[in-house]
Amino acid sequence: MLSLAGLSEAPKAVLVGGPSGGFLPPGELDAPIEPASLAERGAVWGSGTVVVADARTCIVDMASLMTRYLNDEACGKTIPCRIGLRRLAEIAERFTDGRPRPTDAQLVDDLASDTRDGALCALESTATNPLLSGMRYFMPEFEDHIIRGHCPAGVCQPLRVAAGATR
Ligand code: SF4
Repeated sequence: MLSLAGLSEAPKAVLVGGPSGGFLPPGELDAPIEPASLAERGAVWGSGTVVVADARTCIVDMASLMTRYLNDEACGKTIPCRIGLRRLAEIAERFTDGRPRPTDAQLVDDLASDTRDGALCALESTATNPLLSGMRYFMPEFEDHIIRGHCPAGVCQPLRVAAGATR
């Protein structure tokens, strides 16, 4: 269990496990922080780091950033990883840029499972976590970007910024 007691404001999400970890909503933090339980919830212990995101954080933007980083880090030896992760990073960028295609959400699911299945190493077997966990727990925020063309946190600048956004 991960205690977030003492924070000055309620967290929106916690990225557990570093760049290839998963975004968990606060309600998921009561479960044990151990490998099997984390894997069930779409995260890993990974680097052991925990990043707490507040309401000003755009989960779509953060998931896109992590996916781009992991794509940059991949060595390129394995074709499903080389192609799949690059395509996932491009799709995530389309979400934040306000250029989604109608099939993109489904494509993320299909590509992520192919990419994971073809993985040769730990990087790739976990690299789809940020995007998949983001879509699993924060789908309304993804739908805001994909369907309604706005970023509720006001982070993704090419999109229309929601009224009252803090940035
Ligand atoms: S799965 Fe691992 S070994 Fe294969 S390309 Fe990706 S990073 Fe390299």
